[in-house]
Amino acid sequence: MSEDYKNMWKELGLDLEMHDALLEVLGKGYQDVFLSQKNRPEGMGYFDFVMSEVHGLRIKELMDEKKGGRKIIGSYCVFVPEEIALSGNATLIGLCAGADFALGEVEKVLPRNTCSLIKSTFGFKLGKVCPYLEASDMVVGENTCDGKKKAYEIFAEMVPNLYIMDLPQMKSDQGRALLKAEFYQFKEKVEELTGKTIDYPSLKTGIKTVNNKRRAIHRLSGLRKVDPAPISGLDALLANQIFFYDNPARFTESVHKICDELEKRIEEKTGAFASGTPRILISGCPMAVPNWKLPAIVETSGAVIVGEESCVGERGTRNLTDESGGSLEELMDAIIDRYFKVDCAIFTPNPDRLSHIEEMVGTYQADGVIHYGLQFCQPYSMESMSIENALKARNIRVLRIETDYSMEDAGQLRTRVEAFIELLK
Ligand code: SF4
Ligand code: SF4
Repeated sequence: MSEDYKNMWKELGLDLEMHDALLEVLGKGYQDVFLSQKNRPEGMGYFDFVMSEVHGLRIKELMDEKKGGRKIIGSYCVFVPEEIALSGNATLIGLCAGADFALGEVEKVLPRNTCSLIKSTFGFKLGKVCPYLEASDMVVGENTCDGKKKAYEIFAEMVPNLYIMDLPQMKSDQGRALLKAEFYQFKEKVEELTGKTIDYPSLKTGIKTVNNKRRAIHRLSGLRKVDPAPISGLDALLANQIFFYDNPARFTESVHKICDELEKRIEEKTGAFASGTPRILISGCPMAVPNWKLPAIVETSGAVIVGEESCVGERGTRNLTDESGGSLEELMDAIIDRYFKVDCAIFTPNPDRLSHIEEMVGTYQADGVIHYGLQFCQPYSMESMSIENALKARNIRVLRIETDYSMEDAGQLRTRVEAFIELLK
């Protein structure tokens, strides 16, 4: 690791020893899970490079952007509109929260029965190991589930630049009005942070940039509908994870390159897995980097994951923002409409999510659904039972899993997953 990076991390206030330990675990995990896969598309080399430089080159780029007058905004949820950040001369970065860190310290400030995602958010801060968080000029916390909402009250004492965005809980007129007010307030906050006024041309460009990124992911998802699947679920998940922090234009181009290669594979019928391999749809809580436990188990147990009904997946990317608006207000309305469709389990009722899962089972030719819930996550646990019942009523096989970020249950999970895959054969 170059001295320049070390100095950069030091300047960001990272704990270098803890940070080295994290990078070592991350590198080993990546090697075991990703690089050990057979028959990967060559284009994945780009994402391998991104991951190998995740705390290096990308952070350097962000620091250079900052020197050039841009601001960095960190976020923890797909409700934070990237279009607005980009058009206000800011880069939006998804802060990952996908691994346990400094758990002992975390459990001094949060109850033990808090989901892993929230604990990880705190662990990365308390352990001083996340350069993205430390590089952020503003961090957005959103009032989604009760866990996050209350945790941000405590987080605000650790992160002085935390901005809280309120979110509706119902898809009603009042709910939309709240989202509208919040998005306008966010726009003002971004303008205040960067000193740049968001106008019609800049917002239009911001919308197009983010839509292009989503379109590239749509193309990738479309190719996964084919049997044999041309790419593993792990590699596709990685693309969905990198979506949150890579440079948007470069990301778009790289995903299209992989898609060109996958189209050839489809023509030649040379998939990542043999034809007839059981096809799984994953549905539930988001999987942030480096949370690869369940997909790695599934894909080393004889199945292929063909889709993710998740925020790191279709829930986050499926809808585009209408680009046709003729005024700033119309574009803002289009953004509000687009985000108001996100079918997160914090909404009540939330019937769109079930319809979307059913639709995905059909379009991706899935043989079964694994519902992935994080322990202590009320919204997704509550929904998981009705979803399981509804899918079973349609003769769709479901495995409901609740887990956390530790590896303690890996053996037990593998046994359950293997038994489920046997049923699908
Ligand atoms: S599950 Fe809900 S709260 Fe969590 S990132 Fe997705 S939209 Fe946000
Ligand atoms: S996983 Fe569940 S409990 Fe955890 S932050 Fe997301 S919605 Fe909240």
